[in-house]
Amino acid sequence: MTIMLDRLTEQVEKMAPSNVAVQLARSSSLSKAELQQLIYDFNQNVASYERNICLHQLFETQVEKTPDAIALVFQDEVMTYRELNIRANQVAHRLRKLGVTPETLVGIYLERSPEMVIAMYGILKAGGAYVPLDPSYPRERLAFMLADTNLPVLLTQESLLKMLPAHNAQVLCLATERENLAQESAANPASGVTEENLAYVIYTSGSTGQPKGVMIEQRGICHQLQWMQSQYPLTSNDAVLLKTPFSFDLSLYEFFSPLLAGAKLVIAKAGGQKDTAYLIELIQRQNISTLFMVPSMLQMLLAEQSFAACPSLKHIFCSGEPLPFALQQRFFAQMPPAVELHNLYGPTEAAVECTYWDCERDTKLTIVPVGRPIANYQIYILDENLNPVPPGVPGELHIGGIGLARGYLNRPELTEERFIVSSLGFRVSRLGANHNELQPETQNPKPETRLYRTGDIARWLPAGIIECLGRLDFQVKIRGHRIELGEIEAVLTQHPAVRESIVIAHQDAGGDKQLVAYIVSNQATATTHNELRNYLQQKLPEYMVPGKFVRLESFPLSSNGKIDRQQLPAPDEIRLEREEDFVAPANELEHKLTEIWEKVLSLHPLGVTDNFFALGGHSLLAVRIFARVEEAFGKKFPLDTLFKAPTIRQLAALLQQPDWQPSWSSLVPLQPEGDRTPFFCVHAIGGNVLEYYELARQMEPEQPFYGLQSVGLDGQQTPFTSIEAMAAHYINEIGQLQPEGSYYLGGRSFGGVVAYEMAQQLRAQGRHVALVALLDTDPIGWLKLFKRGTALRLQARFLTLRIRRHLSNLQGLKLFGKLNYIREKVVYKKRKVETWRWQIEQKLKSERDPDLVDTLRDVEEFNYLAATNYKPCIYPDRVTFFYATEEVGSLENQFGWQTLATGGVEVVEIPGNHQSMIKSPNVELLAEQLKLRLAAMITENHKSINS
Ligand code: AMP
Repeated sequence: MTIMLDRLTEQVEKMAPSNVAVQLARSSSLSKAELQQLIYDFNQNVASYERNICLHQLFETQVEKTPDAIALVFQDEVMTYRELNIRANQVAHRLRKLGVTPETLVGIYLERSPEMVIAMYGILKAGGAYVPLDPSYPRERLAFMLADTNLPVLLTQESLLKMLPAHNAQVLCLATERENLAQESAANPASGVTEENLAYVIYTSGSTGQPKGVMIEQRGICHQLQWMQSQYPLTSNDAVLLKTPFSFDLSLYEFFSPLLAGAKLVIAKAGGQKDTAYLIELIQRQNISTLFMVPSMLQMLLAEQSFAACPSLKHIFCSGEPLPFALQQRFFAQMPPAVELHNLYGPTEAAVECTYWDCERDTKLTIVPVGRPIANYQIYILDENLNPVPPGVPGELHIGGIGLARGYLNRPELTEERFIVSSLGFRVSRLGANHNELQPETQNPKPETRLYRTGDIARWLPAGIIECLGRLDFQVKIRGHRIELGEIEAVLTQHPAVRESIVIAHQDAGGDKQLVAYIVSNQATATTHNELRNYLQQKLPEYMVPGKFVRLESFPLSSNGKIDRQQLPAPDEIRLEREEDFVAPANELEHKLTEIWEKVLSLHPLGVTDNFFALGGHSLLAVRIFARVEEAFGKKFPLDTLFKAPTIRQLAALLQQPDWQPSWSSLVPLQPEGDRTPFFCVHAIGGNVLEYYELARQMEPEQPFYGLQSVGLDGQQTPFTSIEAMAAHYINEIGQLQPEGSYYLGGRSFGGVVAYEMAQQLRAQGRHVALVALLDTDPIGWLKLFKRGTALRLQARFLTLRIRRHLSNLQGLKLFGKLNYIREKVVYKKRKVETWRWQIEQKLKSERDPDLVDTLRDVEEFNYLAATNYKPCIYPDRVTFFYATEEVGSLENQFGWQTLATGGVEVVEIPGNHQSMIKSPNVELLAEQLKLRLAAMITENHKSINS
């Protein structure tokens, strides 16, 4: 040990001081044993993967193994490995003709689509390196990236061309050129590219006002993907969702790991990453097994209860920002044990990730560490003199290893500043065979001896586990986006009306982060916050534009005359300006309510006249708001209060009336105006009717629209346990509003069944029901009408139908694809059963979503019970079945309704799934169709009155 350390220090001393940044100090207070542990033992992770190979070659090897397996799925489009390989080869051959060779940078300016994947593989096959140019970036930023890279070639799509700033690149529109490209050779091209050539350049925020391009070589990223595959192997049964923006390097796992392993890559539509309901539906429909995401996205997904019901999920990898302990615990409480959570850490400069951690359900830790170095990476935590710090002591995290970037494009000084040369970078592999003897490095330092200074503060926990503690500088992460606050400040200060600016990432009590810009104005030129926002939007991506602007006379200074950021007023304490329709809170009560709304809706700033529904409010958010209102003011409000008082000001007014008591009724006027016959829409299984707000708004102004909500939502009365009793009660309620005439009834899902039962009972009372609108409603209990044997035969028939549907799906596939399809379905079923079992167990254990207050949960459970008990009768009249086109069971449901409603079933297709059919943009279509039916009833009524 002594010999080893002496040799190491000797080696350091031999190196020229100019290029040796680390002085492995004898003065260090660490013992030799501790140094041995920190430098070597904690980095004992050597593994050998294939070298001298490039990304596209790993893919080509897989194509040979599984040419007919499905590689890509995008909406209705499916592409096999062979097809993808051919299309990428054709692009590559064209690119070579356009002059692309190793080290040529080629831009990709495309929306997420199969073309994006083809472009990426095509560029790599041609030997070039890809540069993602995100179409959502403002022109000025794109213009900078185009100029900085001086791209000779750019792959894009026709629709984006007009947004492209001036450039010198040759442009190839992949979709438009498809036929021409098909004339190119389909064979794998030989480009002469090696593992030392560039694979991609990804831009990240730069503190001086411009982004910086990180250059990653083939060997780094190939190593990274091979490590991933050895640590968490994907197989042909797996499916990975492509949803991370391609300008974020986590997307490389999505783009490449499935396709190097025979798995399937499912592409989410452009912008789809912001729509959790869409993502969950896609995960369920495509049996996604592996997800990569930033923790902020995990938080959003966990807010949707249906996320726990994705039986195909196996691994969720979080990365890009700290994974909060509370989020990890929430994950474990909500998700079935079969789903594993991992925390990965790494900067773009180290080819995606450099440490990994498998989160533990029964952990004794109270934080989520970032774990240990991945194979062939070394982590050193150093003090300001670049000496290793003892375990438990914070220091700056430095990374060494095979994946380090070549540096920053056109930024040699910055590269030198961040990538230092160090004796610590002696690879473990350079130790002698017994790992005790260091092989002296006599030549100039090789790239392996470089370290990247991350700017992250971290410390070693026992057993070589790393905890990240924060940043040394002004780099922040907001919803996974890496942002140098200095870049925003530099751009802001270029505005003529701004003299000085400071931008901070303000974290509120709930842990949400938001950018706040403090500005000192130039007296001569006035400007509004909106102008500043618009100005920034032209230069920076949306996620870098501050949500709040605070104008100050001057910045607070510390005793030594420097700006004191700690003394900046907290943005919450400041009345914020928002021009145009913004109405600020006028009193203490409105202030308090605004705070609650902002917190729950995660929107800042909110005006007191902003409408809850227009802000995207839904029932769960309403529950949260009222739970907090009750906590703060001791007053309990039913959810439907939001129809009467959908703004902060109106809610404050209600709160101010000392003797105002919420009146309870199942009948909720969603749109009471107009003199037509009302439409009554019954709640779904959850019991509340907030989800009908948009549908009601879409109706004609003279068409009244009433919701019917569950008894028991007020927390006072006991909910019904039978649909028959429920229906009788609702008939009583609507009777007070409409004692006679034709009735128009409807409901989504469970609500449709209640509407159906109401129609039965009204009919039995001799009244006329003109419309029963079943919005994607299952004909609950219809099989009970048959004898057991017949019911079983019917079930068997549907099973056969389902099998037939599977067979027709299989027909289009080659042998391997067929096997894969079958295996997928079997695995899916198995996992679905496991998930159900787990969910039932969870229910029994009462480990429930803390956000869902008891009343709401109880009502839902009572409604389930009522559904289970229901035995429908034949209805000798007509019903209208609006079915959601994305739901698979629609055929069975149609058949069921035809059996029940002997007067006939009108079937209307509505795009979307069970939930999304009543959300925008589908709700517009649903409203159109409903309006048509209601109009037809009015005409019929007129006719019968006149005759
Ligand atoms: P990027 O280059 O966008 O991947 O950002 C890299 C930076 O994100 C790191 O230097 C960290 O500051 C932060 N980061 C990434 N992953 C994690 C993680 N798992 N925990 C804490 N911070 C992380």
